[in-house]
Amino acid sequence: MSLTQSLQALYENARYDIILGAERITLSTEGVLSGNVSLLFEQPVAIITSYNPSAGSEHPILLSDEENGRAQRRLEEYLQSRGIEYYDAVGYAVDGSHSEPSFALFRMSREQAAAIGRRFGQAAIFYFDGRPQSKGEVLPCGEDTYSLIRRLPLVELHLHTEGSIPLSHLLTLVEKRGGEQADRLRSEADLIGFLRYRNFYEFIQKWLWTISLIETEEDYEGLVFAVMKSLHEIGVVHAELHFSPFDYVDGRLKAPAIAEAVCSGMKRAKTAFGMSGAMIADIVRNHPPETAIERIDSIAPFLGDELVAIGLGGNEAKFPPELFTRAFAHARKRGFRTVAHAGETAGADSIRGALVDLQAERIGHGIRCFEEMSLVEELVRRRTALEVCMTSNEATGVIDDLGDHPIRKLMQAGLNVSLNSDDPTMFRTDLREEFGAFVSEFRGTGDEIRQLLRNAVSAAFVDESRKNEIEKALSE
Ligand SMILES: [Zn+2]
Repeated sequence: MSLTQSLQALYENARYDIILGAERITLSTEGVLSGNVSLLFEQPVAIITSYNPSAGSEHPILLSDEENGRAQRRLEEYLQSRGIEYYDAVGYAVDGSHSEPSFALFRMSREQAAAIGRRFGQAAIFYFDGRPQSKGEVLPCGEDTYSLIRRLPLVELHLHTEGSIPLSHLLTLVEKRGGEQADRLRSEADLIGFLRYRNFYEFIQKWLWTISLIETEEDYEGLVFAVMKSLHEIGVVHAELHFSPFDYVDGRLKAPAIAEAVCSGMKRAKTAFGMSGAMIADIVRNHPPETAIERIDSIAPFLGDELVAIGLGGNEAKFPPELFTRAFAHARKRGFRTVAHAGETAGADSIRGALVDLQAERIGHGIRCFEEMSLVEELVRRRTALEVCMTSNEATGVIDDLGDHPIRKLMQAGLNVSLNSDDPTMFRTDLREEFGAFVSEFRGTGDEIRQLLRNAVSAAFVDESRKNEIEKALSE
């Protein structure tokens, strides 16, 4: 069933309550059933609703309240930012099987309403032309990118295990080890409220709190498995997880044992979920560079099918990449692949350092490369992968607003961009959400979504036959 047919089916079966202050008006396909008829039909009105594209089809995909809520907030923010006057409305199926908050927009042409609908890949538009007894029409929203995101095999290259612990798993850790906090954090909703931050400093505080709940090396085995399971559930088929074995400076947990545990969790998850995946050990730039080689050697015995690479995270502005030139050369010699965070909280110099001094194969973020055009050219020439994480950049204040993100500009410059989620639990997102945001903020097309995923596949640390397999599934 095409999107338009599907919308039509929903429309035929839906009623709309439009609440304008004290007025309550109910619409159906018969037109106005009750309420103030003239108020509504003296002018054109478009009713825009976040929409489950599969409604009315044989196998409906039901969106969670959270997904619907997020879509709705984006639409609302957009309308507010453009100064478009709207009224709250509620749409619900006659049989009560689903309901969706909606917006009623007045004095809007058919074309304007369609343009807003197209911008939000999952919006439905019911347009009434202003004539009494008008039955209205469903305006096509264009490509059904929302269903496409749910159908395609997703690839995640930049995600931190400790920042991705599913809420249910985190809650069990809090119950066991949260101490006094456990009394305040009794539900996933409590956790969502707790995991909010206004700046990077607060983010780090909450990160350290999460780390404090991990008490044994074996915990990591379960963490990796739980993260992979949550990725599998949203359609991810290949994932590379950063982990931070050297964060335990007090010696509470030992890096080699953590490395062993994450490899075991990854191996178990790959078998259980039919996924491919790898682990990337963060050697942390905040620690003394002189001890980096020692740190790398301590986990090198676990290099293999699971542990494949080292990464460089931490305070980028304070600890430039050049400090780790020797460490990266050493890691390469030992057989590690290499990635580095750069161009997130520091600028073009940091990216150049990661590229030239560290010879990192991939750059985490890299969004500040436009500060130096010759660097952009170099990145394009080398086809260096940039692991872009939009929501993360907004949450930590690297950009002011998602709409300001340079992702489209990076793609247009010919850079090898993939889309990733960084710390989905901490930032209340996931990879599917990131693609949804790309559609709603940048009118991302199906071709672009596929391109972002192909870029991720080409940059993945996995053998060619697996790459070909995912590539093939992407083309279907
Ligand atoms: Zn990161």
